[in-house]
Amino acid sequence: MIKGYMLIGGEKVCKDREIEILFPYDETVVGTIPDGDKEDAERAVSVALKGFEKMNQMTAYERYQCLSRAARILSNRSFEIAELLTKEVGKTLKEALGEVGRAVNTLTLSAEEAKRLKGEEILFDAAPGVKGKVGFYRRVPLGVIGCITPFNFPLNLTCHKVGPALAAGNSVVIKPSENTSLVVIKLAEILIEAGFPPEAVNVVTGYGEKVGDALVRDERVKKITFTGSVPVGKIIMSRGGLKKYAMELGSNAGVYIDSDQVDKLDFVAEKVCRGGFTMAGQVCISVQRVFVNDTIFDEFIEKAVSFTKSLKVGNPFDENTDIGPVIDKASADRIMEWIEEAVSAGAEIVVGGRRLSNTLIEPTILINVPEDVKLFTDEVFGPVIVVNRVKNVEDGIEKINLSRYGLQAGIFTNDIRKALKFADEVEAGGIMINEIPTFRVDQMPYGGMKESGIGREGPSFAIEEMTEIKVICFDLN
Ligand code: NAD
Repeated sequence: MIKGYMLIGGEKVCKDREIEILFPYDETVVGTIPDGDKEDAERAVSVALKGFEKMNQMTAYERYQCLSRAARILSNRSFEIAELLTKEVGKTLKEALGEVGRAVNTLTLSAEEAKRLKGEEILFDAAPGVKGKVGFYRRVPLGVIGCITPFNFPLNLTCHKVGPALAAGNSVVIKPSENTSLVVIKLAEILIEAGFPPEAVNVVTGYGEKVGDALVRDERVKKITFTGSVPVGKIIMSRGGLKKYAMELGSNAGVYIDSDQVDKLDFVAEKVCRGGFTMAGQVCISVQRVFVNDTIFDEFIEKAVSFTKSLKVGNPFDENTDIGPVIDKASADRIMEWIEEAVSAGAEIVVGGRRLSNTLIEPTILINVPEDVKLFTDEVFGPVIVVNRVKNVEDGIEKINLSRYGLQAGIFTNDIRKALKFADEVEAGGIMINEIPTFRVDQMPYGGMKESGIGREGPSFAIEEMTEIKVICFDLN
């Protein structure tokens, strides 16, 4: 049993009230975290203000060195951290090792950005009547940044916030998901070990409505960078008042498969299924809605069903397991209700559909799914894919755009004109051609249109949003 704590100015803070963290596979207790409250959030912000002053004393090169060192320490501890990720999130060990590798990369990319942040000269005399003035703008850090993160990629998604924030010279207060806080506490300790002032890297734990809300409403916090669901994103923006926001929210990603893929259906069906079932479908860019050209629909379904049947569901620590559990029983209850709703409305399950335990759900494909059921309109965040027939690429684009989300989308086609039409007309932050919407590398600009979010992550983009612009003008007259 791991006893977690908050980390405020490097001090380990415990509380009498604790929250249990469960291993999602069998719901045994992995550890506990303090049930933090408003006072804890306020104290962490006060300490982070002192941390910001200390960050102001660091040079860009020192920030680069600390982030690089943190990446090395994390890399050296890959296996231990991956095991903890598997215990908290329930993702397979292979998926967990993949996340640690990506987090090392995200910290390294952030380190590099610490040396690149720059402003530029302003041509004041390009305005009529202005002479003898020279100057420039520079990017200055904001101050204290509140980082609120979800359960599904607790390590890498926290690095996507904390890395650019520290690279730009800010201090942070992190509020991780109450399901997966232990790994984030480890990350904060690594950043302090790597040389950042302890006051600049703080973690408060507990429920979002309590400690998270207090962080959001604190006027001393200059920015909230949030990754999580749309409803929570909306609450945060309505309660936080005048500050900056980055919102990385949910989706129900769509993919279109054209008739010209007839000879590649083994490859395409496997890719699409992996995109829907990896991490038990708990990825913001999981494949959820698949639109297949009518002429190849039956063949596609046959191949997708056969591949899905080969996947092994079970204990994420077992190296033969392809798909682990969903995060908790409540999520599994909801996913099963949505499947039942779709079936009652006329959809047909072609593979899966059974619940194997409180948290294990078979990878499931449904076809002919009505467009007004939750599996079509909302984000399922579980191992479920819906596949419907469409007539052509225009029809596919229209169906994909029916969504109120727009994070990423994909198309499989050999026809460059169809691919470019799709890229032009689909409303999403990323368009993947001959690739699933689930594709992401950490240096690319990543974020959503419509309800999927505001702003872009990827260290070179996020770092700019972690600063504000200050103009400096000299009068030489
Ligand atoms: P969630 O929205 O339930 O919680 C996210 C975080 O917000 C948690 O730390 C939670 O404690 C906190 N929170 C909850 N209520 C709050 C409040 N009132 N004030 C402040 N904080 C509050 O999300 P989740 O279930 O942990 O994660 C799944 C969601 O995250 C999915 O919708 C998924 O699509 C999304 N997500 C998006 C991205 C992306 O980059 N766009 C990446 C991963 C996950």
